[in-house]
Amino acid sequence: MSDAAESVTESAPPREVHGAPEAAVRLREVLGQMPDYKPGKAAAAPAGVTAFKVSSNENPYGPLPSVLAAIGDGATTINRYPDMAVTALTQRLAKALDVPPECIATGTGSVAVLAQIVTAACDAGDEVVFAWRSFEAYPIVTQLAGAKPVMVGLDAEARHRLDAMFAAITDRTRVILVCTPNNPTGPCAGQAELEAFLDKVPSDVIVVVDEAYVEFVRDPEAVRGLEVWRHRPNVVVLRTFSKAYGLAGLRVGYAVAHPPVAAALRKTATPFGVNSLAQVAAIASLDAFDELSERVDSLVAERDRVVQALADQGWKLPRSDANFVWFPLGSDSTAFSEACQEAGLMVRQYGDDGVRVTIGEAEANSRLIEVAAAFGPR
Ligand SMILES: *Cc1c(COP(=O)(O)O)cnc(C)c1O
Repeated sequence: MSDAAESVTESAPPREVHGAPEAAVRLREVLGQMPDYKPGKAAAAPAGVTAFKVSSNENPYGPLPSVLAAIGDGATTINRYPDMAVTALTQRLAKALDVPPECIATGTGSVAVLAQIVTAACDAGDEVVFAWRSFEAYPIVTQLAGAKPVMVGLDAEARHRLDAMFAAITDRTRVILVCTPNNPTGPCAGQAELEAFLDKVPSDVIVVVDEAYVEFVRDPEAVRGLEVWRHRPNVVVLRTFSKAYGLAGLRVGYAVAHPPVAAALRKTATPFGVNSLAQVAAIASLDAFDELSERVDSLVAERDRVVQALADQGWKLPRSDANFVWFPLGSDSTAFSEACQEAGLMVRQYGDDGVRVTIGEAEANSRLIEVAAAFGPR
């Protein structure tokens, strides 16, 4: 966790407020031990160069007209609280996924749903097992809940080592996170290997299959979370509207979980968290699935174009089934990140592990191919 140490906020010196010294309030010690979540950099580039934000795995397409219209209609009632039970969206998701509505729990982004899962399952000192590197929110939500992160290194192809994750289970393990495709490295876990893993994991341990990028997956061997979920009461599938559906700014995600877990997630949710515009926009997006999946297909085609060009240049990169590519550059990460930045590409550097670049506008992707060629393949 090389960027953890860098990003721990130092406590500010006491300052005067309305003439009185600020009281030294007591905060949880864990806050001082936790990394801050680092958002992707905003677009900024040298003069004359168009900047592209390819640092947060966002969808480069703006909202569909039908989605904007739904948001416009919804805006007329924002003086009212949203439907706390998120009824219409839950029903619509149930239909789209062919699961009972009581098995769906929504939240303000799937990051929030994940925090609800950990809060629901962990007492202080309980353990959450996940791969590393993986999604940087994992250690944060774990530690905020008072639980202990147990991080298991990826293999040489940047994939989960499910056998090592199994070996990391103790009697304090309450949750295991499987990120597939893995953010930031790209590969999926395999369906057969996940099933074999789940056959061994104690049935009272929750296994979260985080499928934030599932719509971009084309690997036929990859995990199919809902299939796994159907016959396993301890499995929870996490999905989001932030990536393929292009609603990152509205904050809505969901879990598919068996009824006892889904009920626990409703208890741990922030009341009225999912706002009314997010609810209507998500429904309109599900209704516009065909249009959105054309966009997803063209992003996948762009990913394939980038991956092929990089392979032709001689780069050896892990497979990506998501909307980003991972450059495991070690100590060259900063130099590559700077080269990207000079070309107007705001990429995401993870310390000395590597650099993640989102598949964005075609022009941004072409520029990435040029920067990578000039940098020289590794
Ligand atoms: C982006 C992402 C999410 C989703 O985040 P939201 O809170 O729904 O925006 C969840 N998991 C992973 C691995 C992600 O990369």
